Amino acid sequence: MTALSPKGIPRPQVKTLDEILPQEPLLMMGAGPVPIPERVANANSMVINHLGDAMAQVIDQVKAMARYVFQTESKWVLGVAGPASAAMEMSVANLLEPGERILCINNGFFSHRMAEMATRIGADVHELHVGVHESADPERVRRAIEETRPKVLTLVQGETSNTVFNHSLEEITRIAKSYGCLVVVDAVCTLSTMPLKMDEWQVDVVITGGQKGLSSIPGVSLLVFSNDAWATVKSRKKPTVQWCFDAQLAENFWHNHGYHYTAPVSGIMALHEALKLVCEETLEQRFARHLRCSKALQAGVEGMGLSLYIPEVSRLNSVVGISIPEGLTAAQICRHISDTYRVEIAGSFGQPIIRIGQMGEQCREHNLFRTLHALGSTMRDLGAKVDQPNGMAEMESYLQSVPRSLYRVA
Ligand SMILES: *Cc1c(COP(=O)(O)O)cnc(C)c1O
Repeated sequence: MTALSPKGIPRPQVKTLDEILPQEPLLMMGAGPVPIPERVANANSMVINHLGDAMAQVIDQVKAMARYVFQTESKWVLGVAGPASAAMEMSVANLLEPGERILCINNGFFSHRMAEMATRIGADVHELHVGVHESADPERVRRAIEETRPKVLTLVQGETSNTVFNHSLEEITRIAKSYGCLVVVDAVCTLSTMPLKMDEWQVDVVITGGQKGLSSIPGVSLLVFSNDAWATVKSRKKPTVQWCFDAQLAENFWHNHGYHYTAPVSGIMALHEALKLVCEETLEQRFARHLRCSKALQAGVEGMGLSLYIPEVSRLNSVVGISIPEGLTAAQICRHISDTYRVEIAGSFGQPIIRIGQMGEQCREHNLFRTLHALGSTMRDLGAKVDQPNGMAEMESYLQSVPRSLYRVA
């Protein structure tokens, strides 16, 4: 036996959280995580027995509310302790066995991630590359499906990295289904911010995370399998390589009130509250709020003389991409707006843009004004020419031109 040093590993000297965190909290207006409502924060502070009766009721309600938010009658709602990427990985890992073919529509950073995941599980991976400023074209997708005849097709509803919206998702899904493909949709940044009708559009798997459209915490994610997709999962010849991501083991917890691994109880409570808030607001109202706020922000940004990165037809509203004025960098802008104005926005992965999120709690008028003001002031401080008063005025007049409530709640 080796003797332990009498001193062992010395205790580290660390700061308190108060010393690390800024005195005034930052307004989180980046591409996620987004601000969470107080009810979500309070729910997230609880720990209960993950296999008790209370948890069973919470899980049943989470599934019922998820069916409304995903617009599906499918029974097969599952959660996963992990980022949205874990839900992405769970989808392809359970649908495909080694050597089986998948076609991934690659609109950028996140939709390419699906192809990486499929490669690691040994699938036969094909990618259809879409230009940076465009949404996927259904006819090109049809040709790619005819050439490759994949078992699974994946696509993203909103590609957060370059702020492109795949507006032809419904048509693409219809085409893919006519060739017998299972269709997996990444709705991580879009779910509950814009329409996605899982059943009506015949989508087989929809994936989302907590920290974006749903305004919950990061670290607990949801996905739903259609009956067809679930039958595929059930007929696997071999179980998935990853034990944690095995949907048939996850079924124990999510459908039989049994044990898989210790569930992230606090995060599930937070998600319950986030979903409840969506149900109370209604999807129609929530979509209208997101559209109105995002369009107002876009009008303000353009009113200042800055340009939006993606042409309107293919532009995502859930995350707004803004071209960086000449001579500045994303890092410089993001640091200045954070340090000086206490607003967090995001750079991008590979694109010359900064991004402002319009997901969940980010879509509130007071947050829009503070953010646009901070953006204009930052540009001016850094020497870019912007017409800040005009931008603020354009945003206000857009908001006045569109009523706050497009639909009456009975
Ligand atoms: C954020 C995001 C992801 C990844 O989510 P994580 O929680 O970081 O794993 C995947 N797809 C899209 C479209 C996203 O916006």
